[in-house]
Amino acid sequence: MTCLVFCGFFALRSHPVWFRSFSPLCTSGRGAVLACARSRHPIRCHNRIVDFEYTPEQIQLRHAVREFAAAEIAPHVMEWDEAQTFPLEVIRKLGGLGYMGCIFPEEYGGAGLGYVEYSIIIEELSRVDGSVGIIVAAHTSLCSNHIAKAGTPEQKKKYLPKLTSGEWLGCWSLTESEAGSDAAGTRSTAVRDGDDWVLNGAKSFTTNAHYADVCVGMAVTNRTAAQHGISAFILEKGTPGFRAGKKENKLGLRASATGDVIFTDCRLPHSQLLGKQDEGFVDSLRILDGGRISIAALSIGMAQGAYDAALKYAKLRKQFGRPISEFQAIQHKLVDMATKIDASRLLTYRAATMLDSGKRVTRESAMAKLFASESAVYIANEAVQIHGGYGFTKDYPVEKFYRDVKLCTIGEGTSEIQRLVIARQLLKDQAK
Ligand SMILES: Cc1cc2nc3c(=O)[nH]c(=O)nc-3n(C[C@H](O)[C@H](O)[C@H](O)COP(=O)(O)OP(=O)(O)OC[C@H]3O[C@@H](n4cnc5c(N)ncnc54)[C@H](O)[C@@H]3O)c2cc1C
Repeated sequence: MTCLVFCGFFALRSHPVWFRSFSPLCTSGRGAVLACARSRHPIRCHNRIVDFEYTPEQIQLRHAVREFAAAEIAPHVMEWDEAQTFPLEVIRKLGGLGYMGCIFPEEYGGAGLGYVEYSIIIEELSRVDGSVGIIVAAHTSLCSNHIAKAGTPEQKKKYLPKLTSGEWLGCWSLTESEAGSDAAGTRSTAVRDGDDWVLNGAKSFTTNAHYADVCVGMAVTNRTAAQHGISAFILEKGTPGFRAGKKENKLGLRASATGDVIFTDCRLPHSQLLGKQDEGFVDSLRILDGGRISIAALSIGMAQGAYDAALKYAKLRKQFGRPISEFQAIQHKLVDMATKIDASRLLTYRAATMLDSGKRVTRESAMAKLFASESAVYIANEAVQIHGGYGFTKDYPVEKFYRDVKLCTIGEGTSEIQRLVIARQLLKDQAK
């Protein structure tokens, strides 16, 4: 059964066009459905009605990723977590199935799908192991997407096919020890020297740093320029003066590798500049708009995993002669958890659908990320509570969700920064 699914339709790389033949939101008549399907911009449909159903293809995709995660990830989760083992073999398999480049055009080896399908993939992987979810997210919507959005045709041709196939793994390096929330405070520098750039500095907290073949790294090219004078560069593993540094020993997501990236007189040809000189910070903000949808999906996946485990446990565990699920206090917890998951999904898939239709989603992706991540922390906490003392042990999966999910309120902008971003958008809207 598993083989049928994997070897058939859901190897996205080999059947992308068939997969894309329906769109999720167009139900206003057969003509409209076909028109929308062709345009791949469902939200722009005339007479569109809101439809919260997934398409049959999206449901099949969800099942296929779920089966993959159950077969290839679930048996190893705790072992990888304990030993901090990076699941490179699984990442290569995901690449073979087209899951490492789902949002990119077919001409670059992608599946030509959108953020809705991408979110489904991240959700289902994270439902079993958030580490795998964050590895795929950093690779796809940060590194590869920055190249896809800002790269020259030559850069896209050179890097995207290797990244979308999973042959190469990518990382994206903006944060520094003194520049976290205030990423504009970047200190790493890139100085022009003839036809080259020479990079010096250290980045921190880079997901995939130690296993990446390609890194998109940010450095200051002009301290006096507008927009903070930061530029993005593409660095390949093995480039002299470029290496991964200290690997963090983390609370959660321990099978994913997070660490420093060091530039020491690292000389790059001008062709490795990504996007326009001095505009890397602005491009990064645009990339983070999409990235935050993936962190929301990561949150939903882990919240769903924690909720599923709690529901199962509540039905089995007996106290006072009956299953604890019969106590109203436990039922209310389950209700609040399920409601928050649903609400998180609605916000996240709204942002994904809007992005897929070409809209700017700064506000919507920040709202989805803020709500889904804070809800996921709440849900994992309640899942441990429902398990009582057993939730505090490694015999049940909820303690790991509890540890892993905290990253979601921090990575790609903390909750405090999301509120700041949303507030700016709200005030801007009001000023119009
Ligand atoms: C597991 C993991 C993976 C990561 N992966 C990547 C990656 O792949 N690439 C990358 O570039 N970065 C990555 N990061 C870095 C992450 O994006 C930063 O940690 C995050 O942006 C916060 O920066 P900081 O840690 O320096 O915290 P700080 O900015 O020092 O914040 C500390 C506290 O102060 C608050 N704060 C700061 N400024 C304000 C303000 N103006 N108003 C209100 N509160 C404020 C913050 O919300 C937070 O609560 C990763 C981090 C982790 C933990």
